[in-house]
Amino acid sequence: MHPSLEGKASEILAPSLPATCFRQQRVTSEARERTNVATFHPLGGDSFTKPPPPPPPRCVSGAWRASGGSPRGELGARLLLPSNLLPGRVIACVSHHSGPAWVSWLVRNLSAVPGARPAMSQKRRKRKPAESMQEGAEEGALFPDGLESNGRLASGAPPAAKKAAGEGDVGSRGSAALAEAVKQARLDAAPSVAEFKYNKKRVRLISQDPDLKEDARGILYWMSRDQRVQDNWAFLYAQRLALKQKLPLHVCFCLVPKFLEATIRHFGFLIRGLKEVAEECKELSIPFHLLIGFAKDVLPPFVTTHGIGGVVTDFAPLRVPMQWVQDVQARLPPDVPFVQVDAHNIVPCWVASDKQEYGARTIRRKIHDRLAEFLTEFPPVVRHPYPTEFQAEPVDWDACYASLQVDRSVKEVTWAQPGTAAGLAVLEEFIKDRLKFFGTDRNNPNRAALSNLSPWFHFGQISVQRAILEVRKLRSRYKESAEAFIEEAVVRRELADNFCYYNPNYDKVEGAYDWAKTTLKLHAKDKRSHLYKLEQLEAGKTHDPLWNAAQLQMVHEGKMHGFLRMYWAKKILEWTTSPEEALKFSIYLNDRYELDGRDPNGYVGCMWSICGIHDQGWPERAVFGKIRYMNYAGCKRKFDVDQFERKYSPQKFCK
Ligand SMILES: Cc1cc2nc3c(=O)[nH]c(=O)nc-3n(C[C@H](O)[C@H](O)[C@H](O)COP(=O)(O)OP(=O)(O)OC[C@H]3O[C@@H](n4cnc5c(N)ncnc54)[C@H](O)[C@@H]3O)c2cc1C
Repeated sequence: MHPSLEGKASEILAPSLPATCFRQQRVTSEARERTNVATFHPLGGDSFTKPPPPPPPRCVSGAWRASGGSPRGELGARLLLPSNLLPGRVIACVSHHSGPAWVSWLVRNLSAVPGARPAMSQKRRKRKPAESMQEGAEEGALFPDGLESNGRLASGAPPAAKKAAGEGDVGSRGSAALAEAVKQARLDAAPSVAEFKYNKKRVRLISQDPDLKEDARGILYWMSRDQRVQDNWAFLYAQRLALKQKLPLHVCFCLVPKFLEATIRHFGFLIRGLKEVAEECKELSIPFHLLIGFAKDVLPPFVTTHGIGGVVTDFAPLRVPMQWVQDVQARLPPDVPFVQVDAHNIVPCWVASDKQEYGARTIRRKIHDRLAEFLTEFPPVVRHPYPTEFQAEPVDWDACYASLQVDRSVKEVTWAQPGTAAGLAVLEEFIKDRLKFFGTDRNNPNRAALSNLSPWFHFGQISVQRAILEVRKLRSRYKESAEAFIEEAVVRRELADNFCYYNPNYDKVEGAYDWAKTTLKLHAKDKRSHLYKLEQLEAGKTHDPLWNAAQLQMVHEGKMHGFLRMYWAKKILEWTTSPEEALKFSIYLNDRYELDGRDPNGYVGCMWSICGIHDQGWPERAVFGKIRYMNYAGCKRKFDVDQFERKYSPQKFCK
């Protein structure tokens, strides 16, 4: 680890703790990685120091499953009967660790169960998945053919039975098939997260003490950035702990009535998405608690009152949510371990790089090199088998919506339905109808080529990892498009998280590179051709019809086309009194109207446009200095500007 990170991370994580605490935590997690988790402790261990005796077999609806997992490779498989087993999918998986005596015991006992049969022989699984993966990976090849990145065969079937290229992917399936296929893919990955080889590099310890107290009465997932149940590594980690400890699992969300100038457009999307989360949790016997107030005020008392033994949260690199985590840590009882999981990035932010990266070219390789390890299928969050002593208070969602103290003048949009189900439908539609054009037409605002997924990504209602798992299935059919999408959604997006995490001035001119600060300062007094006030910009009343059209698209639809966002922000630099003012105005407008606003991508987008972040110096010119310039004539060369201006003309919105 870079020496400078140590001070920085300890500051970010737990200012109330001495820097040595962070060092200790780091050593612990590194040691755990080195030893591949040889010992068991509640928040870290994956295996038992002593193999537990196999529980007596029981029968649930005729469905049987056995999970592998003996650290010594002797007693091996334990029978587990998770309640999510589908009737009819009667199989028994025998770990490759299992000794012959155990296997014959298992087969003998299973044969007594009607319809049960062993599904996997010892011979078939010769290697650990991770080993096969590395062996198959060519230099530079993201996804070795025939393998999912977790080393499983793409269809979970033997090679001979493998589907032809493209068959079974969304591109050739009917509508709404994606959700079903995804459900099955999770089950194919593992019956539950307890049997899944969870990569603990996604997790970091925030509290000092990693050990669960003996009288713990539950595990809590404090959901924040990643507002979904499935495909959520933080939720999965919390369930894994709860299953291993045989404890109830709870989920909470702390709803602040006001957040960074967010409007009803944002809160409406969030609340409706959470409602779906609550319903899904209910089906899984996991109480969902909506706590009203700041996490520091409502979460620690909740933990104490209910005897919660460990808290898991997700990760966001922006200063406000980072502060929430610090505040909660400072107020949690010291004997309650608190961990954070990066459930938003495919490669966890702290694994991808330990410093601020200069640009896409410096982080790209680092991310791609880690994809084989992190771009895996998810296991399912399953019905939780350990009941809780207390239930969640029922939530009156309408009352909650009505009580929000937010600006209601920025209306909700109708084209984007909140929630995971709607997000998956947009993903399915993108893959079926638009992905093929993404490579060639993504910079043409008149073409439907973009994914439009940013609102669901931003609120964590669907996982980027899920989108990539699906898009990559079409990489042989639409190579250019699939690679371009991976570049945007993985490299550029994770670069934005990297910038915000490691640069405390991620939304200020001070956060720019020295060359950019120097050049902007040199040109600060240059004469501007036009100067606009915030109100004129907000109303889309400039001399430039393309800029106005883009602004109106954002104001009315809550999503400006990605190409125009660059043009839009650069013009604000050109037409305001200083780079500082330009940055302030662009961030204000972006966060107020974009449904995906208040996102690392937004701060970096504005910083890229105005302060040259992740860019290079260009030929010098007035106002911009060496910051890259864009103009109307350039847009005309790229797409039919008139068509766009007609579509978003002020007259249309007056009507
Ligand atoms: C001035 C400016 C402001 C921006 N504000 C935001 C914002 O508030 N929120 C936001 O999510 N994005 C923002 N972006 C980045 C980008 O424009 C949007 O992510 C994209 O337009 C969202 O539409 P989409 O999902 O259809 O994108 P697609 O082109 O389909 O891309 C898929 C995903 O890749 C990621 N992505 C795409 N382009 C970028 C990029 N340049 N940088 C980082 N990630 C990217 C996003 O997660 C996006 O959802 C901004 C860019 C600029 C220049």
